[in-house]
Amino acid sequence: MAGNKTLTMIKPDAVRDGHIGAILNQITEAGFRISAMKLTQLSTADAEAFYAVHKERPFFGGLVEFMTSGPIVAAVLEKDNAVEDFRMLIGATNPAEADEGTIRARFAKSIGENAVHGSDSNENAQVEGDFHFAGREKF
Ligand code: ATP
Ligand code: MG
Repeated sequence: MAGNKTLTMIKPDAVRDGHIGAILNQITEAGFRISAMKLTQLSTADAEAFYAVHKERPFFGGLVEFMTSGPIVAAVLEKDNAVEDFRMLIGATNPAEADEGTIRARFAKSIGENAVHGSDSNENAQVEGDFHFAGREKF
């Protein structure tokens, strides 16, 4: 069943490069409603927990180091079919393979530093939203 929520993070590269405003604009222009949002920085333990599914992958150490390297914007986004539609909007994991006009095609530098995160399932959207936000921070 299509859910209506997804969790995004604007990653440290895109925050450092000054792209918060442009990325949020593209997200809202695409019809997503922001129902929770914050600027925050992940600790090593936070990043290891968030990406635990990848802990056996060769890139895990680099991923944790990158994701903790500076502030991120975390947000819950609402729209019909949010998970799938948001992954279409951000484009492929590797920006070299991302469709023209997608957020990663526009703002990402590499497969490791790829500007944004998007949940991969309705179940993970819920888990990741709860990871970042207390109930009183969701609107
Ligand atoms: P995300 O979960 O961040 O939205 P994704 O779902 O497109 O990205 P995943 O397979 O979940 O991709 O990988 C999580 C993150 O790990 C990627 O966004 C990227 O930052 C990093 N990553 C994935 N594959 C590689 C790789 N081969 N080399 C370096 N980093 C990688
Ligand atoms: Mg993923």
